Amino acid sequence: MIIAANLKTNLTREKTAKYIAEVESFLSKNSISEEVFVFPATSSLNSHSGAVVVGAQNAYPTTNGAFTGEIGYEQLEEFGIKTILIGHSERRHIIGETQEELVKKFNFYKELGFKIIYCVGEPLEIREAGFDSMMEYISAQYEGIDALYENLIVAYEPVWAIGTGLTPTNEDIVAIHAELKKKSSAPLLYGGSVKVTNAAEVLALDGVDGVLVGSAALYAEHFCTMCEYA
Ligand code: 13P
Repeated sequence: MIIAANLKTNLTREKTAKYIAEVESFLSKNSISEEVFVFPATSSLNSHSGAVVVGAQNAYPTTNGAFTGEIGYEQLEEFGIKTILIGHSERRHIIGETQEELVKKFNFYKELGFKIIYCVGEPLEIREAGFDSMMEYISAQYEGIDALYENLIVAYEPVWAIGTGLTPTNEDIVAIHAELKKKSSAPLLYGGSVKVTNAAEVLALDGVDGVLVGSAALYAEHFCTMCEYA
């Protein structure tokens, strides 16, 4: 199972270091050998050699250059970062990244052999338009992406379930994951309001290979409990 924490724009460098240390100590004490990822804020990226894989929430598709406010491969390489989140709904819908930009990012980091957690998911109005419309919308998010890339992990995160406390029914998660598995044999995570009280249930569903957790992962103790459920 894969358990991933997306810390978004939260925690300082010091708090992140403490957080990762706490998670690693828990994993080792409890002999948990699941694949555990933490995506901290860019300012908290650091060289790291422990059991937790530290990844970038974002980076620009460049080695370096004139891209004010962005970081590139040179900055990631300094810290040995080889994992990146691409296509998160907040990047698509708040920052406004287009599919074309995401494809560029995907291809650039794929060429460098990065592990890519590529996020897909539909907003509420598309969900309400029915299953076929929803699958059509999500399929468009695979356009230009190499679904067979060996270092790919896909995360299905319905936009309306992120940070809202709402989740699809278990039946819906199973049905959507079954469709997405036809597109790519990559491990498939579910994300969107996963917390201590529902993580075990979600992790047990058919076609769910792990979870990508936001708010509930901000407490190391809660994140550790979810790692234990994996
Ligand atoms: P929440 O767990 O806060 O719903 O966020 C999910 C998410 O966006 C993980 O990438």
